Amino acid sequence: MRTEDESLLRRAVEIAAAAVEGGDAPYGSLLAAEDGTILVEAHNTVRRDDDITAHPELKLARWAAQHLDAATAARTTMYTSCQPCEMCTGALARSGLGRVVYALASAQLAELAPGSGWPVVPQEGPNLFDEARVPIDHHQRVLAERRG
Ligand SMILES: [Zn+2]
Repeated sequence: MRTEDESLLRRAVEIAAAAVEGGDAPYGSLLAAEDGTILVEAHNTVRRDDDITAHPELKLARWAAQHLDAATAARTTMYTSCQPCEMCTGALARSGLGRVVYALASAQLAELAPGSGWPVVPQEGPNLFDEARVPIDHHQRVLAERRG
């Protein structure tokens, strides 16, 4: 963590604390521009929204993908009160954000709040390769035609 990250990371923890006061789960995040300007803040609203995906990191990744061009997104930093979960990590990768600075690691959260993790859903595959590749192949042909 860089020296200049500390105050923005403290702000993410403040957002988490405020979320608890408002009846939500204790997780907060913000997205900052290269110069440290806060672009957007969010907290966990899973209970309020009855939405299992309403994690602040995912909301900010979605916001960045909708509102920032790729070059601008790559210069942002997300500050978050806890290490992003696997769902949010996937969204962060898709969003193209520059970096993430977190306070609590997932292992630390698990010690502080036992049961805060999730069970792993068994996945079975790959299957039906010849059938499943048809829409992929079709999409590749469409992209190739667009490129000329
Ligand atoms: Zn998450």
